[in-house]
Amino acid sequence: MSRLLLIGPPGAGKGTQAEILASTFAIPAISTGDIFRANVKKQTELGLKVKAIMDAGEYVPDEITNAIVANRLAEPDAALGFLLDGYPRTPDQVRELDKVLAADGKALDVVVQIVADTDEVVARLLKRAQEQGRADDTEEVIRHRMAVYAEQTAPLIDVYQARDLVVMVDGLGQVTEVTARILEALAARGITA
Ligand code: AMP
Repeated sequence: MSRLLLIGPPGAGKGTQAEILASTFAIPAISTGDIFRANVKKQTELGLKVKAIMDAGEYVPDEITNAIVANRLAEPDAALGFLLDGYPRTPDQVRELDKVLAADGKALDVVVQIVADTDEVVARLLKRAQEQGRADDTEEVIRHRMAVYAEQTAPLIDVYQARDLVVMVDGLGQVTEVTARILEALAARGITA
């Protein structure tokens, strides 16, 4: 029973690790980016609203993002644990997540910070752009997303550090190596699959 959060810059490998960890711990991986992308693809009302924001590498407004996560966390499969990937990204989202969890007498167990060098993540994102053709993976938008992350999201790590929730993991290397590092860091906190 674990409530985990993955935090790190775009391209650090959060999505890949989130999938692996979710299946290892048998908890759902909840990615706001994936939820938004699915809505854009299906051209839902939400998708139409967020497409231009995402394409520009900006953040979707907090009230929209918070409502989506609150609904998702209320689904039965998240009752025993979950892994959040790409949320929270702003101070308001941190407050909202705290509120949603506290309403059920719950709290986060650990925040995994995936650390990766900027040049390395830009290179990774450019490669992903070729492979997956994501509209927000052009070099200009990538650089903007890095700047938005540094300005708005990186400071949240301090908030969680003050609660002694953060484990730092080097995101460079093979996927399996990074997974092993994360599992080791979680085990050191008594979190095992
Ligand atoms: P990601 O796949 O996590 O890199 O997210 C892709 C894009 O979705 C971001 O650049 C934002 O436009 C939007 N997005 C995802 N998660 C959030 C969030 N927690 N708050 C605001 N916007 C988000």
